[in-house]
Amino acid sequence: MSSIALVWLRRDLRLTDHPALHHAAQHHAQVLPVYVHAPDEEAPWVPGGASRWWLHHSLQSLSDSLHSLGSRLIIRRGDSLNVLRQIIEETGASAVYWNRLYEPQAIARDARIKSALRTDGLTVASFNGTLLFEPWEVKTGAGDPYRVYSPLFRALEARFDTLRPPLPAPASLSGSPHSPASLPLEALALLPQPDWAKTFGAHWQPGESAALQRLEAFAEQGLAHYHARRDLPAETHAVSGLSPHLHFGELSPHQALTRARQAQAELTGSGAHASIQQFIKELCWREFSHQLLYHFPHTPEAPLYPRFNRVAWREPNDYAGDLRAWQQGRTGIPMVDAGMRQLWQTGSMHNRVRMIAASLLSKNLLIPWQEGARWFWDTLVDASLPQNTMGWQWVAGCGADAAPYFRVFNPVLQGEKFDPKGQYVRHWVPELAGLPDRFVHRPWEATPTLLREAGLALDSVYRQPIVDLKQSRDRALAAYATVKEHS
Ligand code: FAD
Repeated sequence: MSSIALVWLRRDLRLTDHPALHHAAQHHAQVLPVYVHAPDEEAPWVPGGASRWWLHHSLQSLSDSLHSLGSRLIIRRGDSLNVLRQIIEETGASAVYWNRLYEPQAIARDARIKSALRTDGLTVASFNGTLLFEPWEVKTGAGDPYRVYSPLFRALEARFDTLRPPLPAPASLSGSPHSPASLPLEALALLPQPDWAKTFGAHWQPGESAALQRLEAFAEQGLAHYHARRDLPAETHAVSGLSPHLHFGELSPHQALTRARQAQAELTGSGAHASIQQFIKELCWREFSHQLLYHFPHTPEAPLYPRFNRVAWREPNDYAGDLRAWQQGRTGIPMVDAGMRQLWQTGSMHNRVRMIAASLLSKNLLIPWQEGARWFWDTLVDASLPQNTMGWQWVAGCGADAAPYFRVFNPVLQGEKFDPKGQYVRHWVPELAGLPDRFVHRPWEATPTLLREAGLALDSVYRQPIVDLKQSRDRALAAYATVKEHS
């Protein structure tokens, strides 16, 4: 048997704590890291524009790291099975390893490829490099998937001590003497044209070493105060900013959990302890979302609970203008506009604001939550099918352990609670910068004199809200009432 192995990289773009790479390096003399660009295989959820921007830079960073280990990344494009077979033929490789993905399209494709390569006589193995626990591993006492978060968290927490410690990166990787050809990264055309993502670089640095640095910086500066500050979008270092790194697998959840538990052991004080516990819980919300998608693969398109199919949404030709205003951050509701503009300019939005913006869309504007999920999918650098689906269904009230459907976030009160001085809103909606704190979340209540002094003309500089919050809340409750009648 030849001792050349391919490691098929997908969303595990790192060298440390990489089970497939670790296994290959331990069992084979030569290891060839391969990336096959095949976005259509993920249809209909092909990576969006912001994700492609991240992917380009992440592949560049991985390629540089592999160089420093004496290896190189082989980039190809095309049908994944055909490409893998081609490289196997070119190199004489006898084994293929990868870390598992959990989206329905990826599961089906990977199963097909595993069986085809085994039929070809290759050694094929897949590993868990993406989640703390496999989605099928942790079930309720009755053997069902969890639909409620708290008992799932308790079940996961009880198993933390069984987790493997993070694996080291291979010390070196020797490639094949007949190293197969690779496309230049630019050939994948991942960067947007025209370059609407040019502002992202000021906020993000994709790649494994940046991910590890971010984890460390957060562990030192943010983790101990996470509980108190995580809902305040204007605070710096209040949240980790790790979601795109976790999504692209530049960092594993084991690494994040291990660092958090280490800090928990070192830090004293009940406040710090509660903060770290809260962060660990968020990592487990990520696990929950993967479990939900794995067990309920229809949920990116349809509600977990079918009775929510009866909600009387508005029709597309009626809501198209409002949807555009929401996407562009021109709703006239400061907290929502701030979030949507943060999203456009940075490829991300604070979690609290995601909930507020999603509630306005799916409740006050009565636009199907799937429209919002698709926009987030295209514009978030951390766009993740399980987490985006769970987040939208949570807000729309139709998912597992979701906010009750009759809960409609009031974006003004939310703004006043979580951005009391209006710093977040003023930063992203500079038209409102001159307003006193009292009116920054409700400019339509400011007197004409105050508006003049703030240089703010409603309807030209900024706009009146596109929807009356009170009336639209009542409309949402009426539209959702059909669900209640049938519950
Ligand atoms: P931190 O607060 O530092 O949390 C640490 C990690 O825990 C995150 O990186 C993330 O992986 C996980 N996490 C935190 N909150 C959640 C949550 N509510 N649900 C699931 N995992 C969580 N997250 C994504 O990663 N991708 C998405 O596409 C996505 N879409 C969302 C859509 C909506 C409508 C909502 C309400 C939430 C969505 N989230 C999504 C969850 C959450 O907003 C982000 O994970 C979080 O804002 C990322 O910031 P952070 O890394 O600083 O998180």
